[in-house]
Amino acid sequence: MSLRDLYQDMILDHGKSPRNFGNLAGPTHWQLGHNPLCGDQIKLYLVKHNNVVDDVRFEGSGCAISVASASLMTEAIKGKKLADIEKLFEHFHCLVTEGGAPSEALGKLAIFSGVAAFPARVKCATLAWHTLKAALADKKGTTSTE
Ligand code: ZN
Repeated sequence: MSLRDLYQDMILDHGKSPRNFGNLAGPTHWQLGHNPLCGDQIKLYLVKHNNVVDDVRFEGSGCAISVASASLMTEAIKGKKLADIEKLFEHFHCLVTEGGAPSEALGKLAIFSGVAAFPARVKCATLAWHTLKAALADKKGTTSTE
């Protein structure tokens, strides 16, 4: 598989024009994430009520994969219950670490299936998700992939 395959159009699109990008006023949860291997940084803001993520936005900078992953994650989790988000993360983590056929539940997140062939990129793809997990666990501070 070539890098061209990995950086598919949708990843490039979300990397260049991330959705839900920017500050969120009055977040109930927030967290910084850092992937020192690549230099990816993210600040994730969440509004959570009654175990549902009502709103989510992020700021930060990094490679196309990390930004696209954060962008697609925010689209995937907005309005979802925590239990469903947890399942989504499990499916996503399995996809980018083990590869194979994407679960139907992943929807657009399936575009990251090529990442499994590039172990150094797995941390770029999962940074937003690890940061989300820490934010929901109320761990204030910085989450590092290292
Ligand atoms: Zn990266």
